Amino acid sequence: MNSAQTTDIRFDCTGCGKCCTGHHVPLTLNEARQWTVSGGQVIVLIEAFLANGLGLPAEQREHALRRSWPVPCGSTEAHVAITFAAFNPERCRNLDANDLCTIYESRPLVCRIYPMEINPHIPLRPEAKDCPSEAWQSGPPLIHGQQLVDRRLAELIERSRQADRDDIRGKVAICQALGIDTSALKGNGFTAYLPDTQALAQALQQVGTEGPIAPWTLHVIDPALCEQLQASGAQVYSEAAGHYAFIGF
Ligand code: SF4
Ligand code: SF4
Repeated sequence: MNSAQTTDIRFDCTGCGKCCTGHHVPLTLNEARQWTVSGGQVIVLIEAFLANGLGLPAEQREHALRRSWPVPCGSTEAHVAITFAAFNPERCRNLDANDLCTIYESRPLVCRIYPMEINPHIPLRPEAKDCPSEAWQSGPPLIHGQQLVDRRLAELIERSRQADRDDIRGKVAICQALGIDTSALKGNGFTAYLPDTQALAQALQQVGTEGPIAPWTLHVIDPALCEQLQASGAQVYSEAAGHYAFIGF
């Protein structure tokens, strides 16, 4: 929990369903398998930082290192962090006309954790969440001081963080099998890919965690940052060079 967060927060989900609309839901590898097998589309979001720390705030180093994987990038090494997320630009495909989840018992881990944050460096800010104001005015204490009160929720968050660490090598292999090999710089943006659902489903079933890792490239638009990365030996593109979108901050 971020040290800036000191207030007590209560929470009681109203079941409004707003968090199920317009949010790409991060999935574990197992959840991504289930999602694609049922025909759901997955978006792949990638960011990276250099082994020398470029792109990485010092206080985030431990968390970022544990959920990333080293890949060759020019004459240096980049650490890539990959998110497979349910592609939900509008209503989630599992939300029914009454705003109820049709896979509630087997819904993804992150759906069970919202509105809490997975990243320990991002504090919970009620105003940044989709929940209506009344959700924050009653219910049991969620945060007391800097502590998450609900132990069950804390366990789910830890499971999600652990899955991030356990899955990263497999995600790198799957991305490479699909020709996905370009990352944005952490803190500067993401590269976003929308792989063919059948091809991804097949890769999720068949690709293991063995084998060499092919070279990766960083996509950065800012000329000064581009120069800095190149001076560190990184391979850099400043224009989209493949089937992806660059989402800058
Ligand atoms: S899977 Fe269910 S809980 Fe998760 S976003 Fe979709 S409708 Fe909402
Ligand atoms: S937006 Fe908040 S209050 Fe509404 S269903 Fe999601 S978690 Fe519950």
